[in-house]
Amino acid sequence: MSEQQTLSIIKPDATSRNLTGQVNTIIEKSGLKIIAQKRIKLTEEIAGKFYEVHRDKPFFQDLVSFMISGPVIVQVLQGNNAIALYRKIMGATNPVEAEVGTIRKEFALSIEANSVHGSDSIENAKKEISFFFSETEIIKN
Ligand code: ADP
Ligand code: MG
Repeated sequence: MSEQQTLSIIKPDATSRNLTGQVNTIIEKSGLKIIAQKRIKLTEEIAGKFYEVHRDKPFFQDLVSFMISGPVIVQVLQGNNAIALYRKIMGATNPVEAEVGTIRKEFALSIEANSVHGSDSIENAKKEISFFFSETEIIKN
């Protein structure tokens, strides 16, 4: 295990229900530290670029529309094994399959409106963090 950083997004279905604090409580209880955070509104272009790998999927247009439907919170989380740990506490993509106690089991509305995003590899975490944050916005200690 090693100290890692991962990108988290609290999605519009969660911000619209005022769940930012409750999601952050689950994050902090897991031991992960929120070392950068901002509330922004994505544009169609930015959301499309962020989800570029899914461009050919049937749900791509809907996903982009959903992600720009309201504000999102983008965050950098740091901790031991942060990438896998955050994926674990997020729960499965489809909330029906997510384990009890996970963010998606607790809060997600559907496979699309599933409350949070988390990076899935070291390489993608690096890419996704620099997509939203500059070095000076990330305060490590
Ligand atoms: P994850 O967010 O768990 O890494 P994916 O990378 O596979 O999942 O998908 C990205 C996002 O696209 C999901 O979090 C969800 O919002 C949406 N999505 C994935 N699969 C579907 C689907 N079958 N129908 C609608 N939306 C989906
Ligand atoms: Mg993914």
